[in-house]
Amino acid sequence: MVVIGAGLSGLNAAGILADSGLSVLVLEGSGRIGGRVWSAKESWETNAGDVPIELGASQISGSYARVLDAVDRLDLTLIDQDRFVLPFSLHMNGMHIKADDWADSPANPLQGDEREIPATAFGSTMMAKVNPLVELDDWLDPRFSDYDVSVAELLRRHGVSEEGIRFAAVSGLGTEMHGVSALRYFQERTRGALESQFVGPLDDDGEPIEFWPKNILGGTAMLPQAMAAQLGDRVRVNHQVTAIDNEKDAVDVHTLDGSRFRARFVISSLPFTVLRAVSIWPRPPGPQFQAIQKLDYAETTRAFCRIKEPFWQEDGFEPSLNTDGPIRMFWAMDNHTGEGEHRGMFVVTGQAGLQVASRSPQAASDFLIKELERVRPSTKGQIEIVRYHSWGNQPLQRGCSPMFAPGQVTAFANEMIVPHGRLHFAGEHTRRLEYGMEAAMESGERAAFEILDRT
Ligand SMILES: Cc1cc2nc3c(=O)[nH]c(=O)nc-3n(C[C@H](O)[C@H](O)[C@H](O)COP(=O)(O)OP(=O)(O)OC[C@H]3O[C@@H](n4cnc5c(N)ncnc54)[C@H](O)[C@@H]3O)c2cc1C
Repeated sequence: MVVIGAGLSGLNAAGILADSGLSVLVLEGSGRIGGRVWSAKESWETNAGDVPIELGASQISGSYARVLDAVDRLDLTLIDQDRFVLPFSLHMNGMHIKADDWADSPANPLQGDEREIPATAFGSTMMAKVNPLVELDDWLDPRFSDYDVSVAELLRRHGVSEEGIRFAAVSGLGTEMHGVSALRYFQERTRGALESQFVGPLDDDGEPIEFWPKNILGGTAMLPQAMAAQLGDRVRVNHQVTAIDNEKDAVDVHTLDGSRFRARFVISSLPFTVLRAVSIWPRPPGPQFQAIQKLDYAETTRAFCRIKEPFWQEDGFEPSLNTDGPIRMFWAMDNHTGEGEHRGMFVVTGQAGLQVASRSPQAASDFLIKELERVRPSTKGQIEIVRYHSWGNQPLQRGCSPMFAPGQVTAFANEMIVPHGRLHFAGEHTRRLEYGMEAAMESGERAAFEILDRT
């Protein structure tokens, strides 16, 4: 068997196939294990010691059965996440506003009851009221295809004002408003709602004793690295796949260096943003081909910073910032004790993220700092970017997360994971019930079981 991609989904699939006694080879295009799990060499000082800056996934939820099982089997250690995002102030319509002043602020463009809703929660509050999904896989059920419209369209249908729809786009939902199917949005929210049942034991006051989400000691990358170590020399890095030829009795996988690997079955765990550059013969059937070519991915550009002095003590506003300008969000973060180094993160998603990422890393970093200083002068000289990262610019990722556009769930979400001859599909984008790292693990497990059923 050949598994393409050494992210969590590919490694989980390969591990299950290997444990079942099958011969497996994992071909990874980059020189690094982990894909969208990437613990950088730069680190933060926290109460838990120095922890690596996580460019991708870091938060492990209490409901992540497969991830937690792997952490346990591989003898990794979970630690409390020592990161607390401080409250947000707003910079809207040219004014800097405290969150509590929003309802009465002249910068608030909304009318009536809509004015009262906390600004950063406006879109999510409105969407929560109209989420029809109950079961985790309802998003794939044709009964709900009427909801396969943009978030903006759905809010309009439910009487949210045009100002409210415009505002939701800058205050939290970002480009999810127009470019993303409401079904995709509801899938994550419905799965997220389940999380509250996994908080662990409670104290006498009903408060959780354990703190979730957790991180992995040494960095999240320890997980895929340990999974790959178990597979040993069956994982080959620097083997970028360029073509997959489905023959009658076998599959030929070709790599950039001219090598060819023949297998009975192949699992591709590649995000469709990069699988679309791989030649697949014969061409997959209509909806699957359309999915590979068209499935949308969100961009996330992040810049991780040190905050020299807590500038919010000077200007009196809440530390983090949500703006309607091009930087969108700046998170100010504390350790849980509130002591030690303050950290910051620019989180620029969607179209805004693409615009920032179209610059060189240095120009993008300079731009982010200058723009923050413009809207919040107290930050001047206080922010030092220690690592900048655009997921859209990673040649073997080309995006952060699959974002079905309006109509795409109905058009191909069910068909896109059906095995094409001897080629099977895994990867977070082929999720059914889960999200995040657990979705990647879920998909690898499903694809491995599909093959075990055929052998
Ligand atoms: C910024 C960010 C934050 C996140 N935060 C969280 C979080 O806190 N918690 C959480 O649960 N999840 C989080 N996630 C999601 C999580 O990272 C993903 O769900 C998961 O890592 C995806 O794994 P995957 O195996 O599906 O894909 P990937 O990790 O993308 O793996 C695909 C692999 O294929 C390789 N590849 C690509 N093209 C080729 C080719 N042609 N030939 C061979 N190999 C190739 C890639 O190099 C890569 O290694 C986050 C993601 C991002 C981007």
